[in-house]
Amino acid sequence: MTFEPLASDFYSYESLLSDQEKEALARLRAWLDSDVRPIVAGYWDRAEFPMQVVKPLAELGAYSFSWEETRPFENSAVFRGFVAMELARVDPSVATFVGVQNGLATGSISVCGSPEQRAEWIPKLASGEIVGAFGLTEPLSGSDSAQGLRTTATRDGDSWVLNGSKRWIGNATFSDITVIWAKDVEDGQVKGFIVPTDTPGYTATKIEGKVSLRAVQNADITLDHVVVPESLRLQNANSFRDTAKVLRLTRAEVAWAAVGTAVGAYEAAVKYAGERVQFGRTIGSHQLIQDLLVKCLGNITASLGMVVRVSEMLDRGEQRDEHSALAKAYTTARMRETVAWAREAVGGNGIVLEYDVARFFADAEALYSYEGTREMNTLIVGRAITGTAAFV
Ligand code: FAD
Repeated sequence: MTFEPLASDFYSYESLLSDQEKEALARLRAWLDSDVRPIVAGYWDRAEFPMQVVKPLAELGAYSFSWEETRPFENSAVFRGFVAMELARVDPSVATFVGVQNGLATGSISVCGSPEQRAEWIPKLASGEIVGAFGLTEPLSGSDSAQGLRTTATRDGDSWVLNGSKRWIGNATFSDITVIWAKDVEDGQVKGFIVPTDTPGYTATKIEGKVSLRAVQNADITLDHVVVPESLRLQNANSFRDTAKVLRLTRAEVAWAAVGTAVGAYEAAVKYAGERVQFGRTIGSHQLIQDLLVKCLGNITASLGMVVRVSEMLDRGEQRDEHSALAKAYTTARMRETVAWAREAVGGNGIVLEYDVARFFADAEALYSYEGTREMNTLIVGRAITGTAAFV
């Protein structure tokens, strides 16, 4: 399949990819254009997730590229970033589904699981045989989850008993397993558990009424004496520091998805500007509309440079928490500006789903807040540059 460079990748960062990576990206792009782009606005409107994308995404490698156990070929973190960007460029909800399945759920097992746990669960998640979710946030603990978790884990012989509640958990209305993070009552440390969702005492209830990422199914979870064997405790998750290792990786991917969300809105605005006629000429030939589009492209190009570099640092083993935190904070802030300028360029039609910009405009709000708000990521970087933690 021929790889067509994106015009919105103004400085040709895609040229960093190998031929094999370009080929895989081209296949994903073609499928997203033919099978996903036409249906997503309807699913967004109905607040339903298009379940028919789960298996094809597996076949295209979306849940397997990252993992030693399943990757079809050697690939770079920059390539995997472009995959996240490509998904979000067409639909941030589908990108978020993949971010949870591949990044948060499989990533927890990859980073914190034993070799046996990795061998058992990663292939099932990578093939789409099962869907995963990641339960960290709680009704009373969002930004302060490093110290504020109320969900408890109590050891009982060879088992653990989990009690508590979770909020906002993506994919959780239909996930087969959810990685639950809970405080061990014995040592007070945060530990991770692979919880099959048919375990007695586990209930997930869809959160209704969202105005952002409507197609993503977020749930409130209740854990009422949920019993899981020791074999389902993530063997290398011994404190929140281990949870943070997962978040470092996924935050960088959210930064890529933020660039994709900005690109999606920008491309819809460029198209509209070339078609819509006012004062006898296309609006794209008015200077002020060109100004909006150029400001969008400037944000996208700067953000892309940042995420490419942060992914290169991951491949070199140089990426630290503050690196991915800065990328997440910066690119989501630029995304928010960009989708607003793109929406402005489309006028009234900028708030109608049919013209695409509205969906990106609304979805940007969730990306801005999840996986660490701008404030939390700022404080992570602030701690790194001053040596002083200013969280409380
Ligand atoms: P709060 O922590 O209550 O923060 C509210 C505001 O106060 C924010 O602006 C915050 O930055 C600010 N704030 C808090 N503390 C400070 C401070 N010390 N200094 C300055 N400002 C501060 N979680 C999961 O575990 N799994 C998921 O799959 C998942 N998916 C999500 C999907 C969506 C669509 C959304 C919206 C959220 C999801 N989350 C998920 C939860 C998400 O990570 C949290 O919403 C996020 O961490 C913020 O927590 P909060 O919403 O409780 O806000």
